[in-house]
Parts: sequence; structure tokens; C-alpha cells
Amino acid sequence: MADVSLLDYDVLLVDFDGVLWLGSRIIEENVKALREAARRGVELVFVSNNSTRTRRYYAWRLRQLGLPASEDNVVTSGFAAATWVSERAPGARVYVVGEEGLVVECHLAGLNVVDAETARKGLAEAVIVGLDRLFTYTKLAAALRSLLAGALFVAANEDHVLPREDGFDPGAGAMVAALSRASGREPDFVAGKPSPYIASLALRGRRGARALVIGDRLDTDMEMARRAGLDGLLVLTGVTREPPERLPEAVKAVVNNLIEAL
Ligand SMILES: [Mg+2]
Repeated sequence: MADVSLLDYDVLLVDFDGVLWLGSRIIEENVKALREAARRGVELVFVSNNSTRTRRYYAWRLRQLGLPASEDNVVTSGFAAATWVSERAPGARVYVVGEEGLVVECHLAGLNVVDAETARKGLAEAVIVGLDRLFTYTKLAAALRSLLAGALFVAANEDHVLPREDGFDPGAGAMVAALSRASGREPDFVAGKPSPYIASLALRGRRGARALVIGDRLDTDMEMARRAGLDGLLVLTGVTREPPERLPEAVKAVVNNLIEAL
């Protein structure tokens, strides 16, 4: 038994990859424990660095697992990046290096998504970068021109790699690095984990709630918990397979699966 119980918290900030599923495989024990926590009145908010899909898609996928989800309790790094830009520059012209989920979240945030030709003229006011599996030299060049003209440089996240069932694929951080190198600039803002911004979005309207961050990674999930001043629970079903030798600050417990923390 862990010395942390999911039931001691008002809200759980739950990661997807490595917690709910791994590739196409569902991690049943974790899903079961979260369903039980929700049934007993604990609120679930899902927080992911994946910007390729919309909140609406993930809410649907989570409901298929029997978890209570709508667009209101799903936060992606794409949503966080779009929200941050729209708060700072409402209606701004943005160029997106990313996939459909990021483009849709920009539209929903009221941003004006421009094409590569416009960005190439240096007319985008912000360049938002997420994982883009159709990344091309044309996109890199268009984004660069706007960055050199002074556009805000916003990263959905800086994850270096994405764990797959058969190894690692490049993450959004690889696209961010290409643009950093070309422009000589670092991102002005990184929206996703470990940024405490995405945690504050997830907890918006839940002031004073006791919140527990549940995730499989030390560098993103647990580091976000530390920066946001929240408790963390590390689950060994994803990227992290062995308990760390020294528990980083914020990590209250390490469990093999979430049933152990019910
Ligand atoms: Mg994960």
C-alpha cells in the first residue's frame, strides 16, 4: 500500500500516455482505480503534453474507458499554448507548426491561423510549435521568417522523444530545436509540462482544491508538480520502470499501479 491515497485529494491531474494507455494498450489497473476514485467523488482533470489531437477527441476516448470527461476537464499542451497566446494577444495572427489538434485549439481560442505563405512574409505575430509528423523544410522556413521578424515563439512542449511500443520517435522538442537553431532564439514560452502554467489552467476555477499530479515521468509530470507546488504520484506503468534512487521533492509516493494508491 502506498502512503498516499487518491481519495485524500479533491482533484487528480492525470496524464494519459503511460498512465491510461501505452500505445494502443489500455492500462486496466490504472483506469479501474481512477473510475473508482471518480465514483467516490474525486474530480479528475486530464493533462497531456500531446498536442496532436483536440480536447474533444480525448474526452471521447476517455469516455470510452468509462471515465467522466468532457472538453472542460481535458487540458492538452496545444490548448495551453493557444490559451496563453490568446490571453496575451487576443485574435493574433499565428502560424502553427503542428497537427490538427493544435490548429483547432488555436481557432477555438479565437486566434487567426495563417498559412505558410503569410508566415514567410514575416506577418505571423506568433509561431506556435507542437509535434508535427508532417514537418517540412517549407514549414521551417515560413516559421523562421516570422520569428526573425519578431513573432512570439511559443512551444506546446519541449519533449525530446516519444516512447512507442517499439522504441522512441522524435517529440515536439525536435521541431522546437530546429527553429531555435535557425533563428538563434529560445522559445518565449513553453506551455506544456513541466510548465506550471498548464497546471494552473487545469486547476482554474478550483481554487484551494487539494490536487495530486499523477504521471509516469519525472522530467515532465513530477517536475510540473514541483514547480506548481503540488503533490506528485509517480506510477511505474510508462516511461519510468524503476523507483528513482532518491525521491525528488514533490513526489509523495511511487506505485506499480494506481490500485495500490486507492
Ligand atoms: Mg506520460
